[in-house]
Amino acid sequence: SQQIQFADDMQEFTKFPTKTGRRSLSRSISQSSTDSYSSAASYTDSSDDEVSPREKQQTNSKGSSNFCVKNIKQAEFGRREIEIAEQDMSALISLRKRAQGEKPLAGAKIVGCTHITAQTAVSGCLFGGLGWDINFSMGNRVLYLFEWGKTRSVEAAPVLAGVAVFAWKGESEDDFWWCIDRCVNVDGWQANMILDDGGDLTHWVYKKYPSVFKKIRGIVEESVTGVHRLYQLSKAGKLCVPAMNVNDSVTKQKFDNLYCCRESILDGLKRTTDVMFGGKQVVVCGYGEVGKGCCAALKALGAIVYVTEIDPICALQACMDGFRVVKLSEVIRQVDVVITCTGNKNVVTREHLDRMKNSCIVCNMGHSNTEIDVTSLRMPELTWERVRSQVDHVIWPDGKRVVLLAEGRLLNLSCSTVPTFVLSITATTQALALIELYNAPEGRYKQDVYLLPKKMDEYVASLHLPSFDAHLTELTDDQAKYLGLNKNGPFKPNYY
Ligand code: NAD
Repeated sequence: SQQIQFADDMQEFTKFPTKTGRRSLSRSISQSSTDSYSSAASYTDSSDDEVSPREKQQTNSKGSSNFCVKNIKQAEFGRREIEIAEQDMSALISLRKRAQGEKPLAGAKIVGCTHITAQTAVSGCLFGGLGWDINFSMGNRVLYLFEWGKTRSVEAAPVLAGVAVFAWKGESEDDFWWCIDRCVNVDGWQANMILDDGGDLTHWVYKKYPSVFKKIRGIVEESVTGVHRLYQLSKAGKLCVPAMNVNDSVTKQKFDNLYCCRESILDGLKRTTDVMFGGKQVVVCGYGEVGKGCCAALKALGAIVYVTEIDPICALQACMDGFRVVKLSEVIRQVDVVITCTGNKNVVTREHLDRMKNSCIVCNMGHSNTEIDVTSLRMPELTWERVRSQVDHVIWPDGKRVVLLAEGRLLNLSCSTVPTFVLSITATTQALALIELYNAPEGRYKQDVYLLPKKMDEYVASLHLPSFDAHLTELTDDQAKYLGLNKNGPFKPNYY
């Protein structure tokens, strides 16, 4: 298989391990992971028309009808959205430059499934730049699941770059599986890589087209759910190809969860409620990566922040960072805002909701829709009033109102945008995972789930440093010897 040579520095990184004499750089892990939210955003577009894209006959400017989007004529608008996103995704662009001439994905036929946004569209087009031969067979097929919706037809734009996109805003469940099927089941074309976000595509291939796995070199999975399914398959001895768990990469965990939430929590709250935070009392449940990001943002705006925790280490961290650690029941009567970030269920119960003061805002930044017991609010004695998109007033018989955001689903994904730069880090990690799995010599990866080698995590970070004009210090030979490190990394142990 092909050896990848990137054009400039990171010399050690460019020496990808070959079949002989080099240890595998990957680490197999078994821990569970956090969810992937790096590609979602929400706006509504009222220009949707009535006819299902499945019924439409559309052709792009190259005469191809190998796609299904809402309106291919919108591609130019989508292209502009993508251009804006590209400005903050320079690392991804520089990855393409560094791989110039090498085309480390030459011959790769990738079938993918992810949310479609301008940012994921940038990566879709980029993977082409890494070597897909877009004239190959029927072209490369990327299915973007347009789950959260975004302005205009961003999904139409990559079609112009030769990427087959099957996705549109407002897809039904049936449409979704139809789109997946159209991407997998293609005459004269068969994927050799899977790029998944949620595990649905992988699941479909397993269920309907298991023979496709004969040609698949690997799966790259981004979400906690998808990763969880892969570990289950692995445990049951049913995983038939190697898989990369991008979700647990340090470049995702330490950036997406922490910094993405630090940036988007205020955006989500302000767009929905116009609330002013100075002096407001806020309780944040859970002081993991997401909780730390939320607390930092709220503190910076002058809010009085309380933290609840079950883990003494995280509780102590919250104390060291200057937050009061309390039980939710101790502060529930006085707080103005309650935010859950635990990954757990029923953290905010009906009892808590009953005791909240009038106009208390309740929202979730953690897992799915499980953290707030919303079901307990759907009772006849309570009245629901939709006051604006994603904002409900739940009214008690005495007139008290609780402001529930996004019906307990993730606030930032439902009500705000997610910063492009963070998505660039995740997308770069995905690209490297694809390159690594696609080019790995036989035997390096078994039918198991792997994390990206630490060295590549470091490479992803290094690609993003020029955006800040950050200058890394190099170890001297003497220092490297003293620390027992290679001067070119990896600098941290695998568990970091
Ligand atoms: P984490 O494990 O680092 O943090 C969760 C914290 O919650 C832990 O410290 C845990 O001890 C604490 N906790 C658990 N149950 C609790 C309870 N009942 N009361 C108080 N504290 C409790 O995980 P994380 O990386 O912070 O992620 C948290 C959740 O957010 C996950 O479900 C993850 O999938 C999700 N997430 C959301 C976004 C987003 O954009 N909104 C981004 C990344 C991750």
